[in-house]
Amino acid sequence: MKLKIDIKKRNGNMRAHTATHLLHGELNKIIKNTKQAGSLVDNDYIRFDFTCKKALSNKEIQQIEENINNIIYEGLSVNKKEMSLEQALQAGAKAFFEEKYGDVVRVISIGNGEKKTISIELCGGTHVDNTSQIGIFKIISQEAVSSGVRRIIAYTGTKVYNYIKEQDKLLQDISDKLDCTSKQIIEKLNKSQKELEQIKGEYESMKQNIVKSILENIDGESKEGFDKIINISKYEELNKINFKDILNIAKQVFDGENIIIYNNDGNFVIFTKNINAKEFAKSKGLKGGGTNNIIQGKDHKIKQI
Ligand SMILES: [Zn+2]
Repeated sequence: MKLKIDIKKRNGNMRAHTATHLLHGELNKIIKNTKQAGSLVDNDYIRFDFTCKKALSNKEIQQIEENINNIIYEGLSVNKKEMSLEQALQAGAKAFFEEKYGDVVRVISIGNGEKKTISIELCGGTHVDNTSQIGIFKIISQEAVSSGVRRIIAYTGTKVYNYIKEQDKLLQDISDKLDCTSKQIIEKLNKSQKELEQIKGEYESMKQNIVKSILENIDGESKEGFDKIINISKYEELNKINFKDILNIAKQVFDGENIIIYNNDGNFVIFTKNINAKEFAKSKGLKGGGTNNIIQGKDHKIKQI
């Protein structure tokens, strides 16, 4: 039993390792002078870091994926050969110059004898014999690791199958929740969004009407030359509404009057027609800003006027 699991894991490692070489090759095609900056190969799992200044586009990611899957379906052979370091470098093998190699190195080349080689690297790892054994390759994510270094996470073989199953389940759960088929999800979401917008609009206009009707019928104290001084915190319906929203409506309702509106938090606005709002605020030591006809601010002293 244990042996069986080990073989499975080893196969997963081989698939991921050969796919890593293919990924390295494809990245070299689309990014100038990119270098491998570290990699981790596990059971059908690839973490590949490479130098690159900007994120790959979705189109580039899709292209890499498609190219690698095409190489997998072509069933190209993966050749392992030992040769001298000099021979390997002459053959164009990718080597990491930070690493020390012996006189004799192992070279992994992927290709088809008569056709050109699509990947050649110095490598001591275990690999599949033929690219078709990888089964399938899927990029799961890309992210920045540090400045100028990006990371791709990719799956091969059974991990891709499990990933598809998970995505399928997610899609199914969303469909169930929305009570539609997976193909109808977008349509359904668009419809819900439109409905929500409509409800929001209706709510906004209802809110405005309520505030307007309360303000129109409100009794305020008249004092210091003002027609009305109103503490809106006394009105339960207005308490639930944003002070700024109330002001916008109050501007229309009290157009042409001298009005002070405030709440228990000390938020206030002074609208005036024939009083200099700025000078009035200054005379009362109120902190706020605005023009000669409108002063807004927050100051608890407003309650003492
Ligand atoms: Zn390798």
